[in-house]
Amino acid sequence: IVAQPIQNSDTAVRVVFGAAKRMSIAAEVQRIGASKVLVLATPQQSDAALEIAELLGSLAVGVFCKAEMHTPVHVTEAAMAQVAETQTDCLIAIGGGSTTGLGKAIAFRTGLPQIVIPTTYAGSECTPILGQTEKGVKTTLSDPSVLPEVILYDSELVRTLPVPMTVTSALNAMAHAAEALYATNRTGETTAMAIQGLEAFIDGLPRVLSEPSDLVAREATLRGAWACGTVLGRVDMALHHKLCHTLGGAFNLPHAETHAIVLPHAIAYNARAAGRELQPICDLLGGENAGTALHAFAQKMNAPTALRDLGLQQRDLDHAADLATTKPYPNPQPVTRDDIRALLQAAWAGDAPI
Ligand code: NAD
Repeated sequence: IVAQPIQNSDTAVRVVFGAAKRMSIAAEVQRIGASKVLVLATPQQSDAALEIAELLGSLAVGVFCKAEMHTPVHVTEAAMAQVAETQTDCLIAIGGGSTTGLGKAIAFRTGLPQIVIPTTYAGSECTPILGQTEKGVKTTLSDPSVLPEVILYDSELVRTLPVPMTVTSALNAMAHAAEALYATNRTGETTAMAIQGLEAFIDGLPRVLSEPSDLVAREATLRGAWACGTVLGRVDMALHHKLCHTLGGAFNLPHAETHAIVLPHAIAYNARAAGRELQPICDLLGGENAGTALHAFAQKMNAPTALRDLGLQQRDLDHAADLATTKPYPNPQPVTRDDIRALLQAAWAGDAPI
């Protein structure tokens, strides 16, 4: 039996920032009115989940540390069994997009309230989007019921994010903001948030890299992640996200690294038609082309630059170009199969954007 979801009369998401904010996790659970919390994490972050369970004391009914990339349905079903057995009435997801995805998948099935404690910059906690994988097929849905009740950004937790992942995850977040600048359904508010998110990373990421445990710089990047994730949830994404979705889904490439490599190429491609909309990136980074400016920034941050280094074979590029161009979608620069094949070639080889 799954416990009845607790009704939260306040539909707005409560967002909390601050070093060591996880210490007040019990108060957040009590504010929701819950008392049987299941803590979710990946196997790699089971220590973080156990710390949260310890802080919760008798409010915790268990931990489930089997979250995986792309939210496989069989993992969600295993977690659902524990939810039923323990009569869980609140979920806490501590981790990156993979763990947040598991929490959303359970919330979608049960209506349970969620507290998300993000430890990467992916931004899934801010969107009503849920991607799930079953028998190798990834499907995506959008439903406000998967949005959390509380997001708790604790800079101490993101301090342990290894430097290479800090860089790729930051570029993953910046990609949401970059595509929001030319989204057909953008508003003045989403554009302002996108610029705010980009600025937070352009200013904060170099500071984090020179001192990874600088909590002030880490908090600045978490605020950037929130802004970038929020626009991801509010406006339509285009070429960049379509390419990364294709590469991740069909060739199982890692999420953040793929975003980091593709971003300068996709933005250079769209700068041909949306140079004016992308001007804020040039203003923040210098340079005359937003794609080239992002390429230079990524290189300065020691980001990976070649899809071949992620294990993609050159012979896969034709198939990837076919997959990425079968279904038309709105994009500033018209998407043609030949142009996308050329873009993928440059991203595969680690060349400068064309
Ligand atoms: P992730 O959650 O898969 O994390 C990658 C690895 O890093 C995991 O092993 C994780 O345990 C570890 N890790 C995370 N934070 C850490 C920390 N602070 N210290 C040490 N290790 C840490 O990676 P991600 O890039 O955050 O998320 C990718 C997934 O999220 C993909 O499946 C993607 O599709 C999904 N996503 C969904 C949305 C959405 O709106 N639905 C948005 C962004 C990403």
